[in-house]
Formats: sequence, structure tokens, C-alpha cells
Amino acid sequence: MNRGPKLEIRSRIDGAWYDGDLILEGNLVRVHFSGYSRDDDEVWRICAVQDKRSIIGTEKVRLRSRQFQDQECSSIKEGTEICAILRTDEFIKYYDAVLIKVKRTPHIHGVCFCSFQVAWKGGPREGQKAYLKCGDICVLRLNKEVLYRHPVIKMLTDLAGRNPKTRLSRVEQTRKMEKR
Ligand SMILES: [Zn+2]
Repeated sequence: MNRGPKLEIRSRIDGAWYDGDLILEGNLVRVHFSGYSRDDDEVWRICAVQDKRSIIGTEKVRLRSRQFQDQECSSIKEGTEICAILRTDEFIKYYDAVLIKVKRTPHIHGVCFCSFQVAWKGGPREGQKAYLKCGDICVLRLNKEVLYRHPVIKMLTDLAGRNPKTRLSRVEQTRKMEKR
């Protein structure tokens, strides 16, 4: 495992976000998902990173999101992009969503009981609305300076800086992500 900030990575297979890390192997970047076997790894070939955003924007890799806290409830704004738990009969996964509205309820002993209406921005329910609780929500961490401290991210962004045509393509593979 690399030293550096903890990451979350979007799986190509299901478009969901997983805790994971990037490991450099020659001209390949191996994506390992925490808690999964090596068989579930994804491999990216470093071809030639369209622009920095395409690698380390919000599309593929970002700093690991953090749990939304009860006391933050009063300061979260409508329109905020979040990562949230999608629960279906088959799985529990994390997808991006946007906060539409907060239906506020008085907090009891500091515990938030509010209802957060969101619209999914990815995954099987993309475009649909859902009502979530405080504990279902993760706050995105978009500080690029911290992200660049990751050795593989730094290498890739340096590469993209030198050669703007650099891009990552994922090596074709079949993999089925099962719930953790
Ligand atoms: Zn609340």
C-alpha cells in the first residue's frame, strides 16, 4: 500500500465508489479495492491522461469521503454534491447524489433525525430521488493539494502536465463486485 492520503475509487464495473488504493506497476496502475481480493482489482493502462481532470477529477479517484456529522446538518446547503449509501435488496453501495432539500426535525440530544431528499447522480437509480438519513451521507473531500500528495496521483498529474494527451484507459476485464 502507498503512503499518502486515503482514496476512494469509482469502479468501472458498477460505477460505485469504493475505498481503495492505486499501485503503480510499470506502465499500469493497479486499482485495489479495500476488503476485496486481487481478482477484483482493476487495471488502468497509462496511455497517452486527456487532462488532469480526467484522472483525478471527481470521475475516477478522489480523497476518501468522510461521514456526515449530525452537527453539520444546519450548515449543509441544498445543491451540495455528496456520496451516499444506496440500499437495494441485492446490495449496499455508494453512489454520488445531489442534495435537493432537507426536511428538518428538531435534534434530540444532538442526534439528527432530519430527512435529506437527494437525487442520484449515478448508479442504477440515476436521476431518481431518495430520502436519506444523516448516517447515509458522506461529505466529499475535494482538496486537490492533499490528493496530490498521493505518490501515484502525483506521478500521473506530473505526466499529464508534461503530456496533456496522456490518458488512462482501463484494461478490459470481467469482474463482478459483490457486496462487502
Ligand atoms: Zn438534522
